[in-house]
Amino acid sequence: MLGGKFSRSRLFWTGIGILIVAAAVVTFLTLRSTGAPEPTTVAFSEFLKDVQAGTVGRVVVAAEALEFERRDGTRSITVAPAGYVASNPTFVTSLTDRGVVLEVARAESATSGGYGALAVGLLFFGIVGLVLYRVTTGRVPTLEKARTIDPQQVAVTFQDVAGVDEAKDEVREIVDFLKEPERFAEIGGRIPRGILLVGPPGTGKTLLARSMAGEAGVPFISASGSDFVEMYAGVGAARVRRLFRDARRHKSCIIFIDELDAVGRNRGGNSLSHEEREQTLNQLLVEMDGFQQSESIIIVAATNRQDILDPALLRPGRFDRQVVVGNPDIKGREQILRVHSKKVALEGDVDLRSIARGTPGFSGADLANLINEAALIAARNGRKTVANADLDAARDKGLMGVERKSVAMSDKERVTCAYHEAGHAVVAALLPDADPLHKVTIIPRGRALGVTMQLPEADRYTHSKPFIEAQIAILMGGRVAEELFLRQMTSGASNDIERATELARKMVCELGMSPLGPLHFRRPSSAWDSDNRASGFSEETARRVDEEIRVLVMRGYETARQIIERQRAALKALAEELLEVESVDADRLKDILAGTVVPVTGPARAVSETS
Ligand code: ADP
Ligand code: MG
Ligand code: ZN
Repeated sequence: MLGGKFSRSRLFWTGIGILIVAAAVVTFLTLRSTGAPEPTTVAFSEFLKDVQAGTVGRVVVAAEALEFERRDGTRSITVAPAGYVASNPTFVTSLTDRGVVLEVARAESATSGGYGALAVGLLFFGIVGLVLYRVTTGRVPTLEKARTIDPQQVAVTFQDVAGVDEAKDEVREIVDFLKEPERFAEIGGRIPRGILLVGPPGTGKTLLARSMAGEAGVPFISASGSDFVEMYAGVGAARVRRLFRDARRHKSCIIFIDELDAVGRNRGGNSLSHEEREQTLNQLLVEMDGFQQSESIIIVAATNRQDILDPALLRPGRFDRQVVVGNPDIKGREQILRVHSKKVALEGDVDLRSIARGTPGFSGADLANLINEAALIAARNGRKTVANADLDAARDKGLMGVERKSVAMSDKERVTCAYHEAGHAVVAALLPDADPLHKVTIIPRGRALGVTMQLPEADRYTHSKPFIEAQIAILMGGRVAEELFLRQMTSGASNDIERATELARKMVCELGMSPLGPLHFRRPSSAWDSDNRASGFSEETARRVDEEIRVLVMRGYETARQIIERQRAALKALAEELLEVESVDADRLKDILAGTVVPVTGPARAVSETS
């Protein structure tokens, strides 16, 4: 429920307040019970002197500590030497002879007030624990977690979900069932109760689940898997119970559990919260099994890590229908752009199809964001309608990060950056297996000082070996250009080097693209896992894997060096243009290169092991 967070947090602080008051009261009572004037502590010799003087009226012996009261009413405490009372039998008689009242405290009353202190301690740690919990998790420990949205407020239908037609078709049947459960009961068909939406983030899984409720006109009760994962055993399970109890109050509804993997992780791990998660997961399974055929409640869950889910979750009667919600293809992207551009005013000549073509790999959320950014850019420039240029700028922002014009590079750094980026660009332009260049810029964006951006002509689903080799060579191009033109090495290439090494590692260990053959070499995933049996290969193999990775990266370096040596003129022209105008787009790049590139005899290729 909206606003629930506020009232819950009020409740939390009220609770803390009550605990503090309670602690104060207990402390007060504990102190008061020890009597009014505090006894002073005196030396043992002082005590003996007092006894001899006959001023002592009463002595309470508790282990080595002696509390005594003088005849004038003042009280003191002293500590006897270890074993003094036991080894001096005359001590007792010397007291009684003088008419002193002698008491021996029972061990329990010696710690009088101990229980009070214990209570204060417990309260104190309780409060500290709660506050820490609140501060570290930003959450209030409570059982109220699920949010119910009434059908009138769901306000999302299938029309709002674009580009995932297969997924929509798969869930349409469920919506029909929710609309008319009786019809399905008559036929006797068994409708799947658990639907698992699987796909990368931002592809519209949450949106699709909500639209199901919107289409069927039933309440939408949602919770996130991470809500169920708590430090305290049993809390998660109680929340699951509460969620299903809420749901059963409705005649029919959709329960949506986001991030199912947070609770549904394969059991048998050894993490700290393992016990708790297992209890929570078991509760979820129990609730799902407990559905009556007559109830029309559908559970929809979303995850992007289906591989780590506990197999028990996927068994028949549970999440037995899996619907893949993938990143949209070019047609899907156009439809999503269309849906979201309804909310903004587009200029007449805006071509959404070409935007869709230039945004491979964008998710639905990325595209929604692109339209929103474009509208913001138009508004910032004082226009009322969104133009093609705004959409282009928004896309570049999405692809390459936000421009940071405030970063002040020194002149020397600008030159370094220009040659570095020109190095990437020239290598990319000259390798036919590489994606076409989209833009080169030395305006700092995100964390990079300069960016060379390539864009595939069509969506890529697989990558060929020459493509990856070309990618490594392009990454090396920046460093090579700096070395050849400026006789320097800078830290600017560190990310390039990291990415190139990672590509090479993938080629050797996962893609079978090295002389080691089509084998998967799993890297030890943690320190626990570092013995060679667990990592799946011998030390000898590990050495060869390292060697092959090195060979692939060095080959890319060599390819880049050969191209740049030959194309010095083109690289210099591009770098100089960059220093002047900061950004060069694809068309201008072609012009510059057309006038300066030395023609190659035979097609240029990344250096392969055949060479
Ligand atoms: P997920 O749950 O898969 O991470 P969401 O459903 O939360 O993704 O998507 C976030 C936002 O992105 C949605 O609110 C919507 O605005 C937009 N979006 C994502 N996918 C689509 C789609 N297929 N059609 C229309 N909008 C989409
Ligand atoms: Mg989501
Ligand atoms: Zn670089």
